[in-house]
Amino acid sequence: MTKTSSVVEQVKKQLFIGGSWRDAEGGATLEVDNPATGGELTRVADGSVADGDAALTAAADAQAEWARSAPRDRSEILRAAYELIVERTDVFAELMTLEMGKPLAESRGEVAYGAEFFRWFAEEAVRVSGRYSTAPNGATRLMTMKQPVGPTLMITPWNFPLAMGTRKIGPAVAAGCTMVVKPAAETPLSMLYLAQVMEEAGLPAGVLNVVTTSRSGEVMEPLIRDPRARKLTFTGSTPVGRTLIEQSAQQVLRVSMELGGNAPFIVFDDADIDAAVDGAMLAKMRNIGEACTAANRFFVHADVAAEFSEKFAARMAGLTVGDGLVDGVDVGPLINAKAVDKVTGLVADATDRGAKVVTGGGKREGSGFFFTPTVITGLPGDAAMAREEIFGPVAAIQTFTDESDVIQRANDTEYGLVGYFFTRDYARVLRVSEALEYGMVGVNQGVVSNPAAPFGGVKASGFGREGGFEGIEEYLETKYVGLAL
Ligand code: NAP
Repeated sequence: MTKTSSVVEQVKKQLFIGGSWRDAEGGATLEVDNPATGGELTRVADGSVADGDAALTAAADAQAEWARSAPRDRSEILRAAYELIVERTDVFAELMTLEMGKPLAESRGEVAYGAEFFRWFAEEAVRVSGRYSTAPNGATRLMTMKQPVGPTLMITPWNFPLAMGTRKIGPAVAAGCTMVVKPAAETPLSMLYLAQVMEEAGLPAGVLNVVTTSRSGEVMEPLIRDPRARKLTFTGSTPVGRTLIEQSAQQVLRVSMELGGNAPFIVFDDADIDAAVDGAMLAKMRNIGEACTAANRFFVHADVAAEFSEKFAARMAGLTVGDGLVDGVDVGPLINAKAVDKVTGLVADATDRGAKVVTGGGKREGSGFFFTPTVITGLPGDAAMAREEIFGPVAAIQTFTDESDVIQRANDTEYGLVGYFFTRDYARVLRVSEALEYGMVGVNQGVVSNPAAPFGGVKASGFGREGGFEGIEEYLETKYVGLAL
């Protein structure tokens, strides 16, 4: 047995419902591929509508008892799961690289990041509190209490197969909610292995249910319309988010949406250019460019554009593309052939409009879904990649000369997840941070994700926050009790 198959062998490929592992209705399975080869990796259960319903039944049945459990017990389950994930970093990382493609070092980074949400919310579980106050007229007392929202539906994307799950499961467990999780069809293995770990950590049956399926819309819509579900939390693309918001309207379901981005990355003329290049490498190339937080539009002051572009292009050209399991590889494959076609089309559109490819520019021939790290200069503002998420290793540079003009251009998008800028002027730091219409801002750094901070967007990037003190609030209701004296 090769090392790789032994890792895949460790994952249970069934549905996890009510504390039991079971086949999908009729024994159906779906194929999971390795994007580095394009070949089949394994198969997992392909859940049906009835399987989805069984999962929600299990979550609804477990809710009342779980809500009554001691916060310390929930905290300790999360802490135990955190320790197990850290202990099994290598298994999680290899699974993630196999199903999603990112290089092993990045997968290890995601395991650490994903596990940290459990440690953070283990600490938050015992800090939930309400308040008690005197009404302004002095006659009555006002009491508020926090209670779990209830059974929660969670839909997660393929690009961060573990962390996008732990960011939801951690606060839900801490708050006392049960859940049905539907991971992306491309990357079910990390989530199935996480369910095994949570079972081992002592999570009671029915609290976490995992349904893998190739028919996400068909299986999830009846659950979203089912009154037993009390919340929907989704991380994924804005078009799918819009559909789910519409479906949620019927039950007036509580909804959190972590959707797409179109991040501006601004380099002012007083920036430390080397630091800006380091930040650009992270903001663009983390996760092969397949991140909602990926820098999508580079705006560089005309006076420093040549220096920045030259240094950035040299770093991009020096990256090694290949199978993420191989030592020394910096850039893995994109998720599938469709993603390669999309990025290829965006580059063609940019060059048709007069932009210039400085390095890279195309897919790599052979098996697997590889795309060469690419830098483009002279991007016209009406190019498709200035409006749409690129979701690949392509950086396109535009120039500017005026601060208010670049802010206006940076905000000129329907998205509002994250914006980055580099400057040494602290008055500008505050001015630009206030002016950017984004849920998060990175100043002189190319990564903002941090389990202790509230992650989330505005505008078409969604609503709700994950992580930080705010993260658990998404899974709590505030109840007010009026007390007569
Ligand atoms: P996606 O196509 O929207 O899919 C996300 C999830 O939704 C998957 O589990 C998918 O299942 C499921 N899904 C698709 N259609 C559905 C439907 N009609 N009903 C119910 N579920 C449905 O997004 P993706 O391509 O996986 O992920 C990339 C997107 O996620 C990008 O836009 C990225 O910016 C965004 N993202 C946002 C954040 C954030 O925090 N803001 C973080 C990471 C990613 P199947 O895979 O089985 O179709």
